[in-house]
Amino acid sequence: MSLSQLAQSISESPTLKLNETAALLRDRGEPVIHLGGGEPKSRTPIDAIISCTSILNTGEVRYTPADGIPALKKAIIRYTEEHYKRQVRPENVIVSSGAKQSIMVALYAILDPHDEVVFPSPYWVSYPEMVKLAGGVPVVAQPQDGTFQPTIEDITQVVGSNTKAIIINSPNNPSGVMYPESLIAELVEFCEKKDIWLIMDDTYNRLVFDGRSPVNCYEYAKDLTDSSKLVVINCVSKMYAMTGFRIGWAIGNRNLVRAMTNIQSQQTSGPAAPSQWAAVGALNGIQNSIDALRMTLENNRNVLVSRLQAIPGVKVTKPGGTFYTFPDFSAYEKNSQKLAQFLLDKVRVVTVPGKEFGMEGHLRISFCGTLKEIREGVERIQWALDPNSPNELYLGTRKLVRDWL
Ligand code: PLP
Repeated sequence: MSLSQLAQSISESPTLKLNETAALLRDRGEPVIHLGGGEPKSRTPIDAIISCTSILNTGEVRYTPADGIPALKKAIIRYTEEHYKRQVRPENVIVSSGAKQSIMVALYAILDPHDEVVFPSPYWVSYPEMVKLAGGVPVVAQPQDGTFQPTIEDITQVVGSNTKAIIINSPNNPSGVMYPESLIAELVEFCEKKDIWLIMDDTYNRLVFDGRSPVNCYEYAKDLTDSSKLVVINCVSKMYAMTGFRIGWAIGNRNLVRAMTNIQSQQTSGPAAPSQWAAVGALNGIQNSIDALRMTLENNRNVLVSRLQAIPGVKVTKPGGTFYTFPDFSAYEKNSQKLAQFLLDKVRVVTVPGKEFGMEGHLRISFCGTLKEIREGVERIQWALDPNSPNELYLGTRKLVRDWL
């Protein structure tokens, strides 16, 4: 069987693969702690369930418009007014099967072969593969000072005549950092001046800590007409813990949204109707689940960061949002894949290697699980790495003896 060059160039999603590995090990009765996850554990808001089941109860679940049902577009327009102070029209909105598909169809609509798309490191694992799928070339902007905060120079330095788009994700997966308002302002201005698409992946915008607010990119846009190249991505996946419903959306100019709709109509004919109705329920319903989730995550973050800081040699940057930390473990092992495998083999803790996000020596550790998992997971990591730890550790009734340091 001969596969296409494209198929051969695309890697499996490492985070989804880790979910499978963790599930397989658990099925075998292994005491796995999954700190590699990318989804909150809270329950779907009741308003989403009611709205979803009411369409199911009709027994008439049909195709919907490829760009989303009018009721969901209306809810998204209201959301955009409330959170971005921006009035958009239905023709500026496309609903997709997750933020992932919104980004993917946006790239299909924007890119010609060999066009470049710039994004800073560390980056969400899917950006390089999505750009390649759309025929483009991913270009990584590396923060020169080794932090997770790129400067405008770090980004503009790698922008060239082939650059078609820049993708920005803040708060950021995997580092959890929020980029400063000044950077967003500079980027909006730069992209308008250079006529480059700016895709703002605001997936984690509502999960921001320490009383801060997310940055609203529209505040800095001079061009809010139909020639604007600013595209804003959101989804119900993380803020409402509705990852399995697969609903995300993009706000963009009318021509772009029309092109994205044409592409999406040929791909999937649009997202599943019950999921769209669930999103209507979530967006129009009582919003307290977001605050509850944010408070839980903020507390989890505090516990995780303080525990990680207690491991000698580990450098941690406190996340300002999301549910990820991206500590530097290079004092122990520079090869992050080797380190993640070691932690899985020895103490059954799942983490994601930093290499997948474009930064070696780091591991992505999530704090969307329970406090018990976080405490025990970090305790196991410390035990495995720190030679000053006791020689033995119990996982339930299983006794582990450190024979490797
Ligand atoms: N963007 C970022 C930065 C993400 O981390 C994720 C999911 O992990 C997505 C987009 C995709 O979201 P969805 O599940 O709605 O497709």
